[in-house]
Amino acid sequence: MKILLLGSGGREHALAWKMTQSTLCEQLFIAPGNAGTAQHGQNVDIAVSDFEKIKAFCLENAITLVVPGSEEPLVKGIYDFFQQDEALKHIPVMGPSAYAAQLEGSKAFAKQFMSRHNIPTAAYREFDESTYEEGVAYLRQHTTPIVLKADGLAAGKGVVILEDREAAVTEFTQMIREAKFGDASKKVVVEQFLSGIELSVFVLTDGKSYQLLPSAKDYKRIGEGDTGLNTGGMGAVSPVPFADKVFMDQVIEQVVKPTVDGLAKENIVYNGFIFFGLINVDGAPFVIEYNCRMGDPETEVVMPRLQNDLLELFQSVIDGKLSAQKIYEDSRVATTVMLVAGGYPEAYEKGKVITNIPAPTQDQLVFQAGTKASGGEILTNGGRVLTITSLASDLGIALSHSRQTAESIDFEGKYYRRDIGFEFV
Ligand code: AMP
Repeated sequence: MKILLLGSGGREHALAWKMTQSTLCEQLFIAPGNAGTAQHGQNVDIAVSDFEKIKAFCLENAITLVVPGSEEPLVKGIYDFFQQDEALKHIPVMGPSAYAAQLEGSKAFAKQFMSRHNIPTAAYREFDESTYEEGVAYLRQHTTPIVLKADGLAAGKGVVILEDREAAVTEFTQMIREAKFGDASKKVVVEQFLSGIELSVFVLTDGKSYQLLPSAKDYKRIGEGDTGLNTGGMGAVSPVPFADKVFMDQVIEQVVKPTVDGLAKENIVYNGFIFFGLINVDGAPFVIEYNCRMGDPETEVVMPRLQNDLLELFQSVIDGKLSAQKIYEDSRVATTVMLVAGGYPEAYEKGKVITNIPAPTQDQLVFQAGTKASGGEILTNGGRVLTITSLASDLGIALSHSRQTAESIDFEGKYYRRDIGFEFV
């Protein structure tokens, strides 16, 4: 396979690392990539949503597989762009069609899909300008807290949880009438608040069958003890200790199977990953959200625990033979701890020299995110800089290995959470 991987985060470094272990990998290009992905293939300076440049590159380099890492090119229709172009349609894209990617790109689409297929999720209603007054009346009699969700993609900021009804009305008005999240909040989903502990479940699907990948839990808040602002993710653990057989059987029967069967029933084309953002409410799983790609930093613990050849799995998806595969998981636990730039997720500086990145070992890998190579040095180039994944027989040991390395890697302004996985140790 000659592969073009799209993205530049820690997720893409982990996917590049994993794919190049396969004998099926002849050549790997990453657009645009980072200093970490460059260790596994050739970075090319093309933005993930510049489809015309991606097309020219694929044709010039005889690419045989495109792997989008993030939702952006998928929601913008990269799958359809390839399918509809005579010169490109022979090149498989490992991701859903734009229509199916609405499972992530539109909260209302996802809620309607779940309600058609009886998939457990919070009770909800959707509103727009034409039903604004009705929405205000609905909020004024809603139980608190109230969850408001901008329908479209809003860079992870479109979900607001309010304790007070009048504050919810104000937020609702800003979303619908003042375009708080631009076009993304022209429509708003108002949802019942669910109380529980969250986790992520991933499958790879060919639209008919699926294979369950290792589960993971990520840590979104900047501060220890899950406090402070939301981030892209400060760390993760895999597997999730409470996702035992009893719980996962419910997830499969009530969530995963009805989702994949629902896609097939509705003739929705879906090749690739489905990420189920779940919440465990007193032992019962509810879907908080769907994503149409892997999570970041969850990929950085899921891929090291996945023992299968990832490209063999992708080939089965392409051939529609995924059901013949079996997933093998490393019995060790994995944790990843993200090093971020001082100030992140608010203003931060770039261009700081990073030193002491250790070479990979059997039980530790460093995946780079916001980094770039320059003049023989590796510099910070984003808020989330790199993440340290450790594998061990026990979560406490894995965490302390990641923390030791987090301490020794150096760049000005470095910050990380020392309490990833705190509920489980
Ligand atoms: P989402 O973008 O839909 O994943 O929402 C972002 C975050 O908001 C989730 O990870 C949850 O922590 C929280 N959240 C979303 N929906 C709900 C809900 N119905 N009840 C409680 N928390 C929620």
